[in-house]
Amino acid sequence: MINKIRKKLVIGYSIAIIVILIASIVAGYMALSRITLKMNQKSLFLYLANEVYESQEMLKAWQTNHHLKTRIRQITAHKRSFNNVVYWYAPDGRLLMAEELASSISPKLREKLDAWNFPSGTLQNILVSSAEGKKPWFFMMVSQDIYDDNNTYLGRVIVGTNMSPFASIANKYYLVSALIVLAVSILAFWVGNFFASKAIKPIKISIQKQKEFVADASHELRTPLSILLSSVDILKKNESNRELIADMKNEILNMKHLINDLLVLARSDSEKENLVFEDFNLADCIKSVVRNFQSLAFEKKIDILFSSEECIPFYGDENKIRQLIAILLDNALKYSQEKTQIKVTAMATDGDILIKVKDQGVGIPENQLNKIFERFYRVDKARSRSTGGFGLGLPIAQTIVQAHGGKIKVCSKINEGSVFEVRIPIKSS
Ligand code: ADP
Repeated sequence: MINKIRKKLVIGYSIAIIVILIASIVAGYMALSRITLKMNQKSLFLYLANEVYESQEMLKAWQTNHHLKTRIRQITAHKRSFNNVVYWYAPDGRLLMAEELASSISPKLREKLDAWNFPSGTLQNILVSSAEGKKPWFFMMVSQDIYDDNNTYLGRVIVGTNMSPFASIANKYYLVSALIVLAVSILAFWVGNFFASKAIKPIKISIQKQKEFVADASHELRTPLSILLSSVDILKKNESNRELIADMKNEILNMKHLINDLLVLARSDSEKENLVFEDFNLADCIKSVVRNFQSLAFEKKIDILFSSEECIPFYGDENKIRQLIAILLDNALKYSQEKTQIKVTAMATDGDILIKVKDQGVGIPENQLNKIFERFYRVDKARSRSTGGFGLGLPIAQTIVQAHGGKIKVCSKINEGSVFEVRIPIKSS
């Protein structure tokens, strides 16, 4: 499924980039060709005006002196850069003067112009075929008929510009554009793949965690259920088995506990917990939780010492903070031997409140310190099961601290004990 999403993202990214690129190339080409055409048209008309002005004297002279010889000049000096052609025609259609390109194309163009019958001042595109297998030349041309003051027809001037270089530039533009599109498509695919993989990574991790969570939860529920099932089977045979019933009750309580914890975590995932924020005295709140644990501690011959200022004003969800302290104290008791001490301290520091729960218990191996906040993680699985833990206490504690905008951390040494430290901003929202 993840791979499908990634593929879709990559294809989507790539197509979007390629479409944008092609659209920009086409738009760029259209704009450029339009600008080029307009510029050429403008200079062609200027050229025509200039030639009309220059030709008038000669065409008048031709009227009066028919012995003037036809002159056909070929301009070769400008052969590389000069792209314009000009032709002056006598009223009888005889060519009087020509400035042409030094190319074998010129006689063919001239042939075409001999049959020129387009209206004066209109732009014409003239195609002249060149050597076989080569592309035809393309000229943009315009003519003007010349009259004297008495409205006598003096002849015709035709000017043109060779547009073939522009056409070949356009062809190159298409080729280069196609190469760019190809390169960008490969790049877009590669970059798309890279970013899609990056974007999908957190989803992948989240799905993986979800899978592990469901697997762990079902595993945890399966054990008490099988115990209950076999107990029921035995009960069916022997009705007066009190011990079995007590075991069953224990397992049912375990399951209830587990399902409660699962529910708390599921809710905290979906709606960031329904916290009820209010002002209260944190010192009193912790003191009362400690008091609740005293009898349990007494049974294990463990001393719980609590020290804090008289009043620590705090704004948060009192019930959740109680639950947090209870989880930490419960763990401290579970993982401590007899005749040890547990110290609970609370104090207000610069803008934060700091709660510490310190025990002299079994400690946690250093390489597992960052794992104990993961769901269902237990350092010693067999031992935890016997003490009733599912590995959900610390994840819940962390959720509560985070919902108050705080942080929880642990320092521990094997066989020396652990210190859980909670730091929460005083005015958390
Ligand atoms: P559990 O219900 O199993 O105690 P927790 O999430 O509260 O689950 O704790 C996860 C694991 O972290 C425990 O199984 C235990 O191995 C370790 N742990 C937590 N608190 C302590 C502590 N105070 N001392 C030693 N180990 C602890």
